[in-house]
Formats: sequence, structure tokens, C-alpha cells
Amino acid sequence: MSLLGDLLAHNREFVSNREYEKFETDKFPDKNLAVLACMDARLVELLPQAMGLKNGDAKLIKNAGALVTHQWGSVMRSLVVAVYELRAEEICVVAHHDCGMRAIDPARILANARERGVSAETIATLRGAGIDLDSWLKGFDNVHDSVRHTVATIRSHPLMPKDIPVHGLVIHPATGQLDVLVDGYAQA
Ligand SMILES: [Zn+2]
Repeated sequence: MSLLGDLLAHNREFVSNREYEKFETDKFPDKNLAVLACMDARLVELLPQAMGLKNGDAKLIKNAGALVTHQWGSVMRSLVVAVYELRAEEICVVAHHDCGMRAIDPARILANARERGVSAETIATLRGAGIDLDSWLKGFDNVHDSVRHTVATIRSHPLMPKDIPVHGLVIHPATGQLDVLVDGYAQA
């Protein structure tokens, strides 16, 4: 069976067995928390359990590297909506050691795209249109600097209220240990 077929077969069992009942909650986060975390597969269950978060506790926003790459992009919008519409009162940025976005090589990604059928003309057209693919694909060199920068970007956003603590953390992807880089209470 295909992966999607497997997912759907599991889903039919899940629903018919009413396994959803233990997850029932509402859209407002019980801990009034929004978390921006990396999409790393090791963190799927580890991150919420290591943070003591259960279903309904937090707004969880994930992307590659736990980054805010644009002041007016979807991550920042999600955080603003979480604060004003969904009762988030604190924000945690949670990056991790051994992140795939550290020292990522835009040239390698573009070479892979070429091998997968994206034409050189397409890439040239994008560059010609002013899209800086190398910056767009770049990750970060140092996870600590990255978290501090992301926290500062969120804190300084013109639509983010100044009394929202924005914490910066790094999680170990094997043990789940959290290290605090930025204590949002000290800054809010
Ligand atoms: Zn990562």
C-alpha cells in the first residue's frame, strides 16, 4: 500500500475507535503559549513531551530552523494572530543542536534541483527577476546566534506588544534537554 493509503487506513481505525477523545480541547492554548520550533522529525513527539505540553496547551508553529525569515512572512503573521486572536501571552523560540539548517549550502540545493528537472533557465529567470535564491535558501551558521536573532526580530516587530515575553531556547534532539539563551521575562 502507498504511504497515503497507510495513513488513511490508520485514520479510519483512529476515528472509528474514537481515539480522538483523549485529544479533545479548544482552539485557545491552555498555557497561553506560542512556540516557534524547527520541523526536525526528531522533535515531533520529543519537543512537546520535553516541554510538558499536551494537546491544547500551545500554538505550535514549525519551519526549517525555527526561523523568522521575513518580518511580514507567515511565521510572524502566525505569532501576531496567536497573540491578538488566540490569547498567547508568551512566546518560545525553540531551535536545536544538529539542525539541518546550520551551514546549509544553497548551491547544493540548487544543484539538486537541477538534477530533479528544474532547468537552468528557470533558475536564471528567478535570479533575473531579482530573487536572491542564495539568501532565501541560506540557513544559519550558529544556532545560538540564530535564536537570539529570531527572538530580537519577534520582539522588535512593530505589531508585537512590548509586554510579551519572548524566550529563546535550544533543545537537544536526543535528550530533550532545554537550554535557555534568552530569558524573555528579563527583557519584557
Ligand atoms: Zn532543525
